Amino acid sequence: MKIISTPLELKDELKHINKSIGFIPTMGALHEGHLELIKNARKGNDIVVVSIFVNPTQFLQDEDLDRYPRRDEADKKICELAGVDILFFPSSSDIYGDDEIKIEAPNVRGYILEGATRPGHFSGVLTIVMKLLNIVNPTRAYFGKKDAQQLHLISLMVQQYFMSVEIVPIDTIRDSDGLAQSSRNIYLSAQERQEALKIPSSLYEAAKMVSSGTIDVKKIRSKMLDILNPLEISYVEILNHNFEIIQEVEMKNTIILVEVISGETRLLDNIWL
Ligand code: AMP
Repeated sequence: MKIISTPLELKDELKHINKSIGFIPTMGALHEGHLELIKNARKGNDIVVVSIFVNPTQFLQDEDLDRYPRRDEADKKICELAGVDILFFPSSSDIYGDDEIKIEAPNVRGYILEGATRPGHFSGVLTIVMKLLNIVNPTRAYFGKKDAQQLHLISLMVQQYFMSVEIVPIDTIRDSDGLAQSSRNIYLSAQERQEALKIPSSLYEAAKMVSSGTIDVKKIRSKMLDILNPLEISYVEILNHNFEIIQEVEMKNTIILVEVISGETRLLDNIWL
């Protein structure tokens, strides 16, 4: 595995490669969710590139940028064992300069849900993803369905800016107790982690209601709120795959999304129906 830290070096390395490239952008502190993305990229491409970059522009002023978990050495080992060919590990100054052009998230879909609690977050996400995709120029890029809104906005950007990369969505990997894996789970105390299991429970209950014929969004949402009580809920929303409001669940075109704040930790989860 090669470890490369500057965009020019990486572009140079990839310039003469006439093979398919699978790319997985991450912020490190790698877990099984990231590994699932890498595995899929390994299966579907000749070359696998992973980036690890804790992107400052997607954190708001008072957020956890400085304490975001960093496990550089362990991450390098994990990538090597997972068969990654190139690990891109840039520093902030390799990626950002002064007074730069920014990609702006769309007014509605970029500022609802997580975009409402973290205004500007998705502009930072889209900016870094645009930069990374331009550096790597991959055949396919892999993103988790766990970050459903991020996945949707990146797909929109690729479509609207006529980019040629294929975006591949990957199902959420969970711990055996059902909690979605996340680099931020290490912030949780044992008690917070236990309480957080209400999140997958509420989603499973919603799926169960739908499979037994309840499609009224209000009823499903209200049942979920009961289950999540007394957690601090940022939102529970039931939307179509285009992130628009619906009154009734439509099979193969519905996402149920939850965000809960546990202590200082933001926990996202969802289920795609
Ligand atoms: P992050 O390092 O948190 O920025 O995540 C990098 C990529 O991994 C994103 O595309 C995430 O959606 C994806 N990801 C994070 N957690 C999971 C998970 N539990 N299952 C599948 N993909 C995930």
